[in-house]
Amino acid sequence: RHKSMSTSTQSKVYLTRRAEIRCAKPLLSIVVPVFNEADVIGIFIEETQKVLADLELAYEYVFVDDGSLDTTADILEEKIRDGLPARLLGLSRNFGKEAALSAGLEHAHGDIVVIIDVDLQDPPELIPQMVDGWRAGYDVVYGLRVDRSSDTLMKRSTAGMFYRLFNQLANIEMPPNAGDFRLIDRSVVNALLKLPERNRFMKGLFAWVGFPSMALPYERPARRAGEGKWNYWKLWNFAIDGLTGFTTMPLRIWFYGGAIIAGAAFAYALYLTIRVFFTGVDVPGYTSLMVALLFFSGIQLLSIGMIGEYVSRLFNESKQRPVYLLQDVIEGPNSLPNRAN
Ligand code: UDP
Ligand code: MG
Repeated sequence: RHKSMSTSTQSKVYLTRRAEIRCAKPLLSIVVPVFNEADVIGIFIEETQKVLADLELAYEYVFVDDGSLDTTADILEEKIRDGLPARLLGLSRNFGKEAALSAGLEHAHGDIVVIIDVDLQDPPELIPQMVDGWRAGYDVVYGLRVDRSSDTLMKRSTAGMFYRLFNQLANIEMPPNAGDFRLIDRSVVNALLKLPERNRFMKGLFAWVGFPSMALPYERPARRAGEGKWNYWKLWNFAIDGLTGFTTMPLRIWFYGGAIIAGAAFAYALYLTIRVFFTGVDVPGYTSLMVALLFFSGIQLLSIGMIGEYVSRLFNESKQRPVYLLQDVIEGPNSLPNRAN
């Protein structure tokens, strides 16, 4: 399995130097956003506990209850009172996974943090390999979904289109098919926490902060229990958030598009004017008038709409509202782990 790791092009010297300063027994924080996951939370903890027991590291779970309306919080609270080394951050309502992750990162104490979904689509069995990657000097070890056959063809192809578009337009490189499932070093967590934006498109932010990264390929299984919370409308908006957050190309493109169209329009106007001198006024022109009118009003609405996308995001950022609101923090006897080193 270790042989299948693909590595980025970091200099060996740099990695060795990083590897040398890694502490032998880091504290590991597992950040888990949960939203109405009562069906799967028990299995998740069971499976993850098995993996962590073999790892022999001090660890803590940071569960973020993203406004669940079912018994998710009750189940977690009971486990925490029974001694699970975990804290439960209760958000005041559903703020979305990106906001929940920000809350989790802000409250994680770990030297290393693993971000993982609760539905076991991100296999906890990979955590030891992620820690190995960190020990080898990488600051980010991200899961790369090599087999997305558990997703529909439609989702896979639209996701592929999104990654291509994003990487072409934005100045940062976002590895296609990398999810949020990853291990990040404390230095990366701190870098992420310094980013002030309210629109927290995590995959983009991960790419933006950089740091030596290693890909860990895995086959993404289907959700173990419960239901996914995505639909195409949400995914579409998520994609627009990602693009507008990391590139201004959709705004600037109209400068060039406008220049080309205006140039063509000017040439055509010149041609029409000259033609009048030679062949006289020709009244029939309904088709060309309509075509020009519809075409240009369409282009104008489209470009105003694009400006609108950015203005609405400027508006949201300018309000400076917090990314999430914490309602309560539930702790138990083992919530704050003793560091093993
Ligand atoms: N999630 C969340 N808030 C939301 C939606 C989802 O915290 O508003 C959590 C969810 O509980 C799970 C993870 O985010 O741990 C991924 O959710 P899901 O499985 O629905 O997404 P997918 O696997 O389809 O990307
Ligand atoms: Mg899922």
